[in-house]
Amino acid sequence: MSKTKCPICNSKADIGYYIEGRDRHFCRCNSCGEYYITEPTYKDFTKPEKHKDVRYILSRCIRKAFNEGKTLEISLANYQKIINSTVLP
Ligand SMILES: [Zn+2]
Repeated sequence: MSKTKCPICNSKADIGYYIEGRDRHFCRCNSCGEYYITEPTYKDFTKPEKHKDVRYILSRCIRKAFNEGKTLEISLANYQKIINSTVLP
């Protein structure tokens, strides 16, 4: 695990490189909780000019799932779906 910043919300996070069949990162973020993120998605979200409108909401969706005992895997294919299917308080 290395100390760095969460690609989604930019809070302090531990990021570990984790391979299980395919390349993905495991992130433990102070704000989002714990989640997996695929390598292309990680690269895309580390560009600060991208995804500005969804970062905050996606962070809250991950946190909600984590609080419910689920560890989400975020990918470019599913992050919009996660946002759309999560009912936030
Ligand atoms: Zn985060």
